[in-house]
Formats: sequence, structure tokens, C-alpha cells
Amino acid sequence: MDEPKRYESAKHFVAITGFVLDVLILLYLLLSGSSIWIRQFAETLSNSEWISIAVYTLIIIGIFKLIDLPLSFYSGYLLEHRFGLSRQSLTSWIKDQVKAVGLGIALSLAAVEVIYQLLRDHPDHWWLYASLAFITFVVLMTNLAPVLLLPLFFKFRPVENQDLQNRVARLARRTNTSVCGIFEWSLGEKTRKANAAVVGWGNTRRIIVSDTLLQNFSGEEIEVIMAHELCHHVKNHIWQGIAVQSLLTLAGFYVVGRALPGFSLKFGFRGIADVATLPLFALMMMALSVLALPAVNYFLRRLETAADLYALDMTGDALAFVSSMEKLADLNLANKAPNKIIQFIFHSHPSVEDRIKVAADRVGQSV
Ligand SMILES: [Zn+2]
Repeated sequence: MDEPKRYESAKHFVAITGFVLDVLILLYLLLSGSSIWIRQFAETLSNSEWISIAVYTLIIIGIFKLIDLPLSFYSGYLLEHRFGLSRQSLTSWIKDQVKAVGLGIALSLAAVEVIYQLLRDHPDHWWLYASLAFITFVVLMTNLAPVLLLPLFFKFRPVENQDLQNRVARLARRTNTSVCGIFEWSLGEKTRKANAAVVGWGNTRRIIVSDTLLQNFSGEEIEVIMAHELCHHVKNHIWQGIAVQSLLTLAGFYVVGRALPGFSLKFGFRGIADVATLPLFALMMMALSVLALPAVNYFLRRLETAADLYALDMTGDALAFVSSMEKLADLNLANKAPNKIIQFIFHSHPSVEDRIKVAADRVGQSV
């Protein structure tokens, strides 16, 4: 087996093990009665519903983090070093973990408090209000991410490379769009992997391009990648993604809202607003996300293909497109031709093989 395939297998092993482990913990909490026992314990500490829910949630998160920690370390640190991808020291990795876990705890606590308050106050329509709250939060965070969240983990600075600025300005003129800011993303101090993306909306919308990409790619290759990112910007792919996520959240909360009363009786909870139902809630949302995954990824891959075609049309440089795809795959140790079924279910981007095939077809058409 070649290196990208071995890396891919190891990543699949981690993802599947992590998922199965999480499902088993949730099932155990639900079926053994531990969830009710933890809620009873939390209630002995305070009469305030808000405080006992916070204590319950913190204990549950603590259990997950503790059990998931060895897997996170294996996947995020050991594996990345074994394959020569990571350049991060152990201290830096731990710092990132502490920040990510802190952020995760704050957001989960807020989400659980809000959802169970809505379950208490609006037992019939909580799912609608919870969806609206979630969508508002996602829209807000998408705007704030480039200035609030990403800088917690990476340094950014405006791209100074004059050649790149000229190329993007030329592309923007040709496509009749306003140029959004381009920022160099300091990925290189942590990994040899390369990447570029469009993030934010409104005043924070920007293209971020990793220093590893700027160092390893030719001007023509970077231009083709910028054209791809510009398409995500021009065609409002971020808003399309938010719309799909919002619809799924609404559908998910609605289904949970229909199923929760019956299930909570069955498992001996005090009602739907009993925070001990959290593992049940999480299991149902996880099951629905897994069911929706192939459709979501199909939609995302279509956006990626649209951006590839746009980049090919705008630059007319199929050779640079193909070589940039090959280089990205080599740097990131990506399997260029993954299993079709795995790709269909799990991948948000088409494989390099498929992307090059689309490029070849496009060029064939225009000759
Ligand atoms: Zn893309």
C-alpha cells in the first residue's frame, strides 16, 4: 500500500473508532441509568435549574473528553508526525487542544442551557425556536470566525506578494467582482499541508491562502486556485452552505421534537425538559446527521466542481489547474483516487482524479 493510502486507512480507523466510541458512551449513559444518576447528583448541588444543568453538562463533556483524549492525541499528533505532515511541537499541540476544548465547553454549555430552557417554556414549539437560535448563531459566527476564532489558532496577515495581488485584481476585473481581502494563513509552523479557503461574510469576507501554498506553488497555479476561491465568493457558496445547514437543523430538531416525548417516557425521564435526556437527544441528532451526510457531501462536491469549472474558464490554464491539484494532493498526502463509495458518503471535495477528469472534459469541449 502506498503512503497516501496508509494515511487514509489510519484516518478512517480513527474516525470510525471515535464515532463508535461516542455512540457506545451515549448508549451506556442512557441504558444504564447513569444519565439520571448524574442529573440527580447535579441537583443536590444547587436548586437553580441553570446551575444543575451546567454541572450535568460539564460532567458529561468531561467523560467524553477523557475517553476521546488518547484517540485525539493519536490522530492529531502521533499520526501527523509519523507521516511527516505535522511540524507542531507537543507543547503547541497541547495549547491548541486546551483552546479548542475550552471553546467547545463554552459553546456546548450555552447550547444545552438554551435548548432545555426552550424545552421547559415551549414544549410544543421549542424545535422551531431552537432552530432559529441555532441559525442566528451560525450566521453570526460565520461573520466572526475570521476575526475571532481562526486567530486563536493561526496568524494572518494581508498578502504582500505584488504578483499575486495583480493576478487577483485582474481576475476580479474579468469577473466583474469586488476583490475581497487576501490573507496569508500561517499554516506552515504547524504542518506541511497546504490549503486555501473563503471565510466570513460582509465586512469579514476574505480569501485565506496558506503560506505553504504560496511557497510551493507557481504564480499560474496560485492564480487558478484564487479563481476557484473567487467563485465561492462570487456565487455566494457560504450562504448556500448556511441555507443547507439551517434546513437540516430545522428538520433534525423537528424529528427530535416528535420522538422525544415517547422515548423519554420509555426511559423513565421526568419529561422532555429533563436534562438527563441529553444522551438520547444527542443520539437522535447523530443518527440524523449520518443519514444526511451523503446528501450534504453531494451538495458540497457540486459547489467544488462549479468552482473548478469557473477557475478553468477564467484562467484558461488547464495545465496549471492539473499541476496544482497534483501538488495539493502530494503535499497533503491525499489519496488521488479513493474508493467511490467512501467518496460518495464522506468526502466534501471530489477526488483529484475526478477533478482532473472534469478539467479534461472542459478543455475537450472548448477545443
Ligand atoms: Zn473550494
